[in-house]
Amino acid sequence: MSDIKNDTKELKKKLFLERKHGLFAMSDEEIAKCDEFCENYKKFLDDAKTEREAVKVTLELLEKKGYKEYKPGMKLSAGDKIYRNNRGKAVLMAVIGTEPIETGVRLCAAHIDSPRLDLKQNPLYEDNKIALFKTHYYGGIKKYQWTAIPLSLHGVIVKADGSEVCVSIGEDESDPVFCVTDLLPHLATDQMKRNLAQGIKGEELNIIIGSRPFRDDEASEAVKLNILNILFEKYGITEADFISAELEAVPAFKAKDIGFDRSMIGAYGHDDRVCAYTALAAALDCENPKHTAVTVLTDKEETGSDGNTGLCSAYLKYFIADLAEDLGSNGRTVLSASECFSADVNAAFDPTFPEVNERNNCAYLNNGVVVTKFTGARGKSGTSDASAEFVGRVRRLLDKENVVWQTGELGKVDMGGGGTVAAYIANLNVDTIDVGVPVLSMHAPYEIVSKIDVYMAYKAFAAFIAD
Ligand code: MN
Ligand code: MN
Repeated sequence: MSDIKNDTKELKKKLFLERKHGLFAMSDEEIAKCDEFCENYKKFLDDAKTEREAVKVTLELLEKKGYKEYKPGMKLSAGDKIYRNNRGKAVLMAVIGTEPIETGVRLCAAHIDSPRLDLKQNPLYEDNKIALFKTHYYGGIKKYQWTAIPLSLHGVIVKADGSEVCVSIGEDESDPVFCVTDLLPHLATDQMKRNLAQGIKGEELNIIIGSRPFRDDEASEAVKLNILNILFEKYGITEADFISAELEAVPAFKAKDIGFDRSMIGAYGHDDRVCAYTALAAALDCENPKHTAVTVLTDKEETGSDGNTGLCSAYLKYFIADLAEDLGSNGRTVLSASECFSADVNAAFDPTFPEVNERNNCAYLNNGVVVTKFTGARGKSGTSDASAEFVGRVRRLLDKENVVWQTGELGKVDMGGGGTVAAYIANLNVDTIDVGVPVLSMHAPYEIVSKIDVYMAYKAFAAFIAD
């Protein structure tokens, strides 16, 4: 009689889909490896806060691993490691496979741009003896989150004579930082009546950069003059040089462990440097893959992937075509046989805001890397929707390689929605699916991921490009 209980247990084990904390699928040794992996990830987060810095750090790591800059016409053979730098804002890398190129490439695509505040082209002004920068936000942000936090400034200024100045200020402990102000609650009676979207308006995202005047009582705009004088002495720039500059204000926080158990990482821009770093780490560890392994770290995902450094442009297609020709095939044939992991984040279930998710179909922190069959909004608008056949293949691969993984849809039906670069790559006739890390507080200045999920993303990408 007591066997009935056991039978039920057995049957459930056989028939039910099991969802569990990744810890229970990992040994203590693997957890230790995962924590160690995340120490390097935190360093990457601090060193590469913008797309330009991410490219710079990536190129250094690639060169160290023996990757060579790719020039079309190069003689290529299995095991060769090459890269192409697209304007310092996106980077492609490949390890040539042992299989013929016409059997397709294994492509991982992540993005290295994150939501932030860009300076306008004429940013500098003085108002009531305070100098400020006007900004234009980049990507989808909740504007109120970007006030009253320390900001650092990163980017490049091209001077009138064509020379370039690189800027990174606010990251070093001894650097000053910058800040967008908010109203004190005492005087916010009217502001508090605004809705959340309007709580802070776009034109209120002005960054404070100085308050001491140049020592001349007669001069007007003496605070602005003093700032320009400091900038001239430090960078040799004048006000007109802002016109040909790309300066990005980002949170000045460093990446830190979160929780008493140190199980999570808090940082600016996990979306999508968490997948960029894990895809890059997989590429760096990739030796002699069967299929040519291609990794692209792209720019402009957060503004819709347009522009020549975004994945709606032809730069990925051209790279594959060049590779194909140098290996005796053509781009169209190679792309049509290729498979892609669109390596981007998804929303993690947040116990404080459970109402936006459908519990059977959302991603959970610590349940591993999340596989997202489709994204989009409303009736799956704007998605590429991976086929059952491709999902089946991915599922077998991840299980075979002991990757802890889960599925996840971005929120309840009709709750909102979003997309990734998956659709643009699928449009090149490539089998594509979203695979990435669940994130809490996505697009906030400080986002949270779980270390187990970060490590499982690395394992997933490594398994995929080696396959
Ligand atoms: Mn993203
Ligand atoms: Mn995003």
